[in-house]
Parts: sequence; C-alpha cells; structure tokens
Amino acid sequence: MIPELPVDIDQIKGFLAADEAQALYDHALQASARGPVLEIGSYCGKSTVYLGLACRANDSTLFALDHHRGSEEHQPGEMFHDPALFDDSAGSMDSFREFRRNILAAGLEQTVVPIVAGSAAAARHWQTPLAMVFIDGGHSLAAALTDYRCWAPQLQRGGILAIHDLFEDAAAGGQAPYAIYRMALASGLFEPLARVNSLGVLRRLQG
Ligand code: MG
Repeated sequence: MIPELPVDIDQIKGFLAADEAQALYDHALQASARGPVLEIGSYCGKSTVYLGLACRANDSTLFALDHHRGSEEHQPGEMFHDPALFDDSAGSMDSFREFRRNILAAGLEQTVVPIVAGSAAAARHWQTPLAMVFIDGGHSLAAALTDYRCWAPQLQRGGILAIHDLFEDAAAGGQAPYAIYRMALASGLFEPLARVNSLGVLRRLQG
C-alpha cells in the first residue's frame, strides 16, 4: 500500500492514473531494495512522489531526469502547453521550479536527486547499475528511442523497465512509447511483467 501521501497529489500537474501510480510504487518498492531507480520525464514531480516514497522506504535513491524545458506537446501553441510553466525571461518552458517545490513539500529532498539535463548528456558517463528505469519522456520517436537506448543498458539483470503512455491504437495516442516497448520485447532481453492502464512493466532477464 502507498503510505499516506505527504502532498495533495491532485495539485501536482501531470498525467498519471491512480492504478498506474500504484503499480509504479509497488515495483519501485521491490526494486529499490536492490539499487537506485531512475525516472525520465519528471515534469512537475507527480510520478516522482510515488517512486520517491518507495525509494525512501528502502533508504535508496531516485534519480529524476528531466531537462525541464518541456516535451514537444508542452511547447507554446501545443495541446499540453501550460503558460504558468513558461519562463518569460528565458523564453522557454521551465518546470524545474515547480518540480522542486513539490519534492520539498513531499519531504523527499533527501531521496530524490534531480538531474536537469537531456537523456543523452546524462547517460554519457553513467556507470551506476539501476534497479528500475521508468521512461516517461518525450513522445517523439527520436526522444523515445534515445531514452530507451541510453537507459535500458544501465539496468541490472532482473531490473525493472517501466514505460508510460502505451497505446496499441494510434487513435488513442502517440506510438513512440509503444514502439520502444515492442523493441524491448523483441530484443529478447526483457520479459513482460504487467500491463496497467497505459503503463507497461518489463523485467530484464537474468543473463
Ligand atoms: Mg506520461
């Protein structure tokens, strides 16, 4: 069970269904006993709170990776643009301030390590085996492929790969997350563990 949430989670901007949040928490609770967890695409910190609470229960660490400049769909004129997250002085999106506020309010500053960078730059010298990776970044095929190629190899054997926003039907949503999900399955390196709403959970096979 998810412990009582330290913040009003509905006040945190973001897109995560309750059943997906529960599944993320459950898998992170098991995985973080074996190592750190990394999420890609923290935005304002909604999934970060669930993953962070699980990591904190094991005295583990959640790396929260996001350039905080918004994905394609967050840019001005796009469907999910939020003017409150636009930094006029910089002329760009900036969700980092809102993210920090939420992580502080959730009491997770000693658990969550923000990495404000793009996926490729953050992965370039990465050497820490990860117990779980949650991919919830940009929905362009290029962004999703980069996230998968950068971080799937960093998983420990037996580690968990979770991917958000899987839609079999192209009319229901973008296909890039589903493309990397299928790629992971086709690689033979992962076995499917669970599908919860639009969340897919895979486990990296033992070698
Ligand atoms: Mg998502």
